[in-house]
Amino acid sequence: MQRLPDYLKKGIIDTEKTKTVRKILRSNCLNTVCEAARCPNKCECYANNTATFLIMGNNCTRNCRFCNISCAEPEPIDKFEPLKIADAVLKLGLNYVVITSVTRDDLFDGGAHHFASVIYEIRKINSEVKIEVLTPDFKGNHNSIDVVIDAGPDVFNHNIETVPSLYKKARPQADYYRSLDFLKYIKEKSNILTKTGLMVGLGETKDELISVFEDLAKINCDIVTIGQYIAPSKKHLEVAKYYEPSEYQELSEIAKKIGIKHTSFSPLTRSSYKAKELFNF
Ligand code: SF4
Ligand code: SF4
Repeated sequence: MQRLPDYLKKGIIDTEKTKTVRKILRSNCLNTVCEAARCPNKCECYANNTATFLIMGNNCTRNCRFCNISCAEPEPIDKFEPLKIADAVLKLGLNYVVITSVTRDDLFDGGAHHFASVIYEIRKINSEVKIEVLTPDFKGNHNSIDVVIDAGPDVFNHNIETVPSLYKKARPQADYYRSLDFLKYIKEKSNILTKTGLMVGLGETKDELISVFEDLAKINCDIVTIGQYIAPSKKHLEVAKYYEPSEYQELSEIAKKIGIKHTSFSPLTRSSYKAKELFNF
């Protein structure tokens, strides 16, 4: 196993702000990816009034080999979750919220109506809050995508995660072209900004990344994020390569030349990292 480079070692510092956030989340029985994944960017994001809520439980119906989320039996949907999130957004004074979920292939709509309810409840409490959704692929169901589009998020994010050749190994239940069609459909049906993210270091080649940038430029995807894959444990896919910080710069320049308007490529970039800044480009 390769050693983690120093530039990926960012301490998790607890501040008054992170403690307050954690307390409010606990009292509202909510999950955030920030807490669950012990995200190293937490201090920065919380200080910036941004957080990523994880809805529809902690268990995923899929089992991607890079992901640390449990694949135990999915939990029942908490119909009060949208209200609890809206209340937490108000108490935390957030002005940019990212809503994401596990994949719920067990639900007829993949959870699209639940996503929509969260958006509606937040808007009821504060119509100024910017909302980004980071959804699963809803098995490519356009009706489900329509439900979320109709709720009017400011940004519709769906992660491509990796290059097509690695799907079988890394995310066997997903399909690169289905995800691409997902992003294309949003753009065809709405003016909502589209966004996607990839991890690097799973074994992809530079040419394969360039080919993904070309696919994303063709469907007018507005924002692309790239960050280093870090294996959550020895049971997960091994890291094939740690990218040097300068390589992100090079990839970003290539992506922009190809036609991607906005990029956030860096070792510690996560899908929701600096989401507000990327929205305000
Ligand atoms: S990068 Fe995303 S998951 Fe990490 S702390 Fe920021 S908002 Fe939360
Ligand atoms: S679908 Fe998403 S949450 Fe589920 S295992 Fe894959 S990456 Fe993790």
